[in-house]
Amino acid sequence: MNDCIFCKIVSGEIPCNLVYQDDKIMAFKDINPLAPVHILIISKQHIESAHVLNEGNSQIAAHIFEKIPNIAREASLAESGYRVITNIGKDAGQAVPHLHFHLLGGRKLEIGLG
Ligand code: AMP
Ligand code: ZN
Repeated sequence: MNDCIFCKIVSGEIPCNLVYQDDKIMAFKDINPLAPVHILIISKQHIESAHVLNEGNSQIAAHIFEKIPNIAREASLAESGYRVITNIGKDAGQAVPHLHFHLLGGRKLEIGLG
């Protein structure tokens, strides 16, 4: 995707504060953190959102969730806990249409889904 900001991070065109990467995913610090720890975990492949996951590409979501415990451990969140969220579309406020999961922690997070 030519004008996708996260694809540009994957290609190295835009720098990021890298936390983890392998051949399929990248994890880096959110540029506008909403908590003391705010890491984004993205697929290297351009996938619009979790709404277009299917039998053919859902392995990437499994891979992300396999890596989250270690990313959280490295960020010292194993004891205190953390939240993982993904926004899909307009009403959820998805600003970047490239599959990503927010990992938030380091403070008591508000309870609620609204
Ligand atoms: P969402 O609203 O779920 O699409 O989240 C997009 C997130 O990407 C926001 O939390 C932004 O702060 C973050 N973001 C946008 N551009 C960058 C960037 N260049 N580096 C790191 N995080 C970014
Ligand atoms: Zn992209």
